[in-house]
Formats: sequence, C-alpha cells, structure tokens
Amino acid sequence: MEIAIIVVIVLVAVWVAALLTRRPAPAPQQPIVYTTTGGAKVTAYPPARPRDRWRWECDGCRTSVVATTAGEDLRPDANRHAETCRALPPQPE
Ligand SMILES: [Zn+2]
Repeated sequence: MEIAIIVVIVLVAVWVAALLTRRPAPAPQQPIVYTTTGGAKVTAYPPARPRDRWRWECDGCRTSVVATTAGEDLRPDANRHAETCRALPPQPE
C-alpha cells in the first residue's frame, strides 16, 4: 500500500514539473504586405507551424515563392519583388 502511495506521489510530482516547465507557444506572426510599383500587393506569409517556411505571393503577376532557407529571409525578397514589379492589381471581371 505504501508503495502505491509513493508511486502516485512521484507521478503527480512529474506531472506538475512537466506543466511548470512547459514553454508557452510563440506569438503568431502576421502576414506582411508590400505594395508594388504597379499598385498590386505582395504578401509575405509567416509559417503556420514551426517546421513550415515563409512564402510570398504577388497578386499582380501571380509569382509565388516558398523560402528555401529558414527564418524570415523571405521578407526582404518579397519587398524587393514589390519594388520592381510593375504588375497592376487584379481587375474586377
Ligand atoms: Zn509581381
């Protein structure tokens, strides 16, 4: 009986320690929008999950790029595309 009580106490202690050492999830990042020289927009999307990658899409010329490197390296690339892209915004049909 004493062993059962000790086992329960140890299990509860391990459970509490696991709860106390848990790291909070990082704050979600928001998409970043750059306006192109033609007036369209390039949107850089952060990864939805830690293993995913940044990607950006231009709604003017329909270019879509997924980062081949980790981190936020794609944001400057998206901004550079916006600075040089002359595509017009999508026109209503
Ligand atoms: Zn473009």
